[in-house]
Amino acid sequence: MSAPTLLYEGKAKILYTTNDPEILLTFFKDDATAFNAQKRGKIAHKGEINCTISKILFQYLEEHGIVTHFIDCPAPNQMRVRALKILPLEVVVRNIAAGSLCQQTGLPQGTVLEPPLVEFYYKNDQLGDPLLTRDRLLLLKLATPEQVDQIQQLALQINTHLSAFFKSCGIILVDFKLEFGLDSESQLRLADEISPDTCRLWNQSEFDPDRRVMDKDRFRRDLGDVENAYQEVLERVIATGNYQQ
Ligand code: UDP
Repeated sequence: MSAPTLLYEGKAKILYTTNDPEILLTFFKDDATAFNAQKRGKIAHKGEINCTISKILFQYLEEHGIVTHFIDCPAPNQMRVRALKILPLEVVVRNIAAGSLCQQTGLPQGTVLEPPLVEFYYKNDQLGDPLLTRDRLLLLKLATPEQVDQIQQLALQINTHLSAFFKSCGIILVDFKLEFGLDSESQLRLADEISPDTCRLWNQSEFDPDRRVMDKDRFRRDLGDVENAYQEVLERVIATGNYQQ
């Protein structure tokens, strides 16, 4: 039996190998970064909060037929996942215009996007995660045309499920980022995490543009009460009754 060895340390998570080559162990960190890691800090209890929210959302998506990398959580800040070959893509789904979409297009923040927008970014810190066109993505062989079509469909299905889930928590799912990978049988699986680090979440009953923010924008924009906002999302997600030990 070999001891777990560190495979990769990212900005928000650490990945370890396990005795089983098909299984990896993820540690969720309290570290927070923004603007391509130019801004750094810590959010107390973020690791446990994001791990638990991700677990509940992965379980919910699996119940709705979405295949994910999730296996289980041996501790509140640890998740066992299937080892995947991660595609170097950040897949962003947007229901409401915010963030870089507004900066790059001039669309006013809050514009409802009907149908939702699916965008592909190149997961490459050195290049600053640039927005891709389909042709550039294929030129760089980041995925096959079939995989792009499958990811696009999956991303929209996941959006339908997550939007309904968050609506039942009194939360508007503004936008979010997904990552996908291939397992040993070349099956496409949803990977990474789904949490206030990777989603824009607005409190449905707040209309003030700062007070309604329940996600990492509180950290990015120095809005304060970051930990409370993450905790509030966790409590609302647990209150849906989808929490399984
Ligand atoms: N996002 C993420 N990781 C990234 C970039 C974006 O999780 O490296 C998420 C972000 O939290 C938001 C959505 O993807 O929910 C869209 O982000 P956007 O492109 O607007 O960029 P930002 O304004 O966050 O820089």
